[in-house]
Amino acid sequence: MTDPSDRRPNIVLINCDDLGYGDLGCYGSTANRTPAIDALAGRGIRFDSFYMASPVCSPSRAAMLTGCYPPRIGFGSLDGIPVLFPGQDLGLPASEVTIADVLRAAGYRTQMIGKWHVGDQPGFLPTDHGFDHYLGLPYSNDMGRQVPMDAPADGVEPYYLPPLPLLLDDDVIEQQPDQAGLTERYVTEAVRFLRDARDDPFFLYLAHMYVHVPIYVQERFARQSTNGPYGAAVESIDWSTSVIVRELEQLGLTDDTIVIFTSDNGSRGVDGGSNAPLRGAKTTTWEGGMRVPFIVSWPGRIAPGQATGEVATAMDLLPTLAGLGGAEVPADRTIDGRDLSAVLLDGGPSPHEVFLYYWMDDLEAVRVGRWKLHLAKHGTERVELYDLDADPGERDDVLAAHPDVVAELMVHVEQARSSLGDALTGEPGSDRRPIGRAPHPVPLTTYDPDHPYYLAEYDLSDRG
Ligand code: MG
Repeated sequence: MTDPSDRRPNIVLINCDDLGYGDLGCYGSTANRTPAIDALAGRGIRFDSFYMASPVCSPSRAAMLTGCYPPRIGFGSLDGIPVLFPGQDLGLPASEVTIADVLRAAGYRTQMIGKWHVGDQPGFLPTDHGFDHYLGLPYSNDMGRQVPMDAPADGVEPYYLPPLPLLLDDDVIEQQPDQAGLTERYVTEAVRFLRDARDDPFFLYLAHMYVHVPIYVQERFARQSTNGPYGAAVESIDWSTSVIVRELEQLGLTDDTIVIFTSDNGSRGVDGGSNAPLRGAKTTTWEGGMRVPFIVSWPGRIAPGQATGEVATAMDLLPTLAGLGGAEVPADRTIDGRDLSAVLLDGGPSPHEVFLYYWMDDLEAVRVGRWKLHLAKHGTERVELYDLDADPGERDDVLAAHPDVVAELMVHVEQARSSLGDALTGEPGSDRRPIGRAPHPVPLTTYDPDHPYYLAEYDLSDRG
């Protein structure tokens, strides 16, 4: 008989969209009610200095899946724009190795549900990147047909994207789905997968549509929210978390399952979203853009009720989960992520000496220990130094007082520029791999006035 401690853990990775550092009760929110997520944190470890590798969707997700900084894998500048659009020819190539690839090769069942956003062309989809099956939106929920943001001027055609596709594996099974009901459908699919895969080690990647705009919610959550549609979306995520946690309990899998909860980038910081107490928001390399909630629960192995300020990143998931799952990390390429298992299991120190903040291909800031040196913001030089331990809100620039610290951090800046490149200084980077490029890109859907859409046009104009 196998010793229970030798059983390879199941993994459930829950990734939200644009959920901010200050949006959960266990991170200080009083606006949103998140009892299930707070309880998850209480059963495990909460990270207070966890970073996504980008303040926007596509590069953040590509980095998490591959364990690499976005410029390492061609996800810095996406032909001049920061995220992928429907039918774009770019995507994560087959040559890149994802968390799902390594776990599947080690015998895991793999399922993805929700937002993908690292390429929608053949070869770039979840089923091309290690997932046995997929149900979800291939990109953002504001990338369908919805009322234009501005009233069209005379003689100017309104701008429309193709109908929003819902994919099952590689097939479009619905266009313009009812977004208010989509999270419930995702949860149903998650439960079906958990029951089906219960006897094998499994990896479920659930990437919520919420809280990315436009926000459509079910009536129950709209009624009970005290923070408008945003709070209702957060509470929908909390509800879905409670269903998954309960299902794992009913299946007897709680002790053997690692549940991870995080978000792809910071909140936009408007309409009810919060990155408090951090400065900045989505699209920025201030802390609020890239430092996000990160909770890991594994009752069989991780001691409950912990919080840590050790620096960790989404790129660490690949080596960490590979290590815990008995899978192989690719040895033929540079992986920027580091194994976090000592932090998770033994209260060990961060494996990172340095963390880099890239906006597209621009190196905008660097963190070493307590110190963060800013270099630029969206193409404009901006050199400032902050002590994140004393001043997590990045309010008191202490650049002039610490020339020695600046000199030390600049050594790391030069190393990063040499390896990953920096568009601001014109350095190309010596260790970068190309993004995938589809030769004949075609959008997954085309608008057809005779198609029986449930909603031919979403009635909210918000784009995020
Ligand atoms: Mg996002």
